Amino acid sequence: MANFGGAYNTIAFDAAKCDGCGDCMTACATTKVGVGDTARSRIQIVGSADDGFELALCRQ
Ligand code: SF4
Repeated sequence: MANFGGAYNTIAFDAAKCDGCGDCMTACATTKVGVGDTARSRIQIVGSADDGFELALCRQ
């Protein structure tokens, strides 16, 4: 996560580097709700049409 000096932090998602491991969702859910339930993560990684992965949602 980068802070570019503004009021908001941002997350850069690079689909070419994502293997769909889900660690980001586990980390997010653990931070936000105290349990590693990926369904409760603010960020969601899903399969893409080209058999890769894409960022479907991030509510930061
Ligand atoms: S699922 Fe999340 S943690 Fe895993 S490679 Fe993709 S972006 Fe990174």
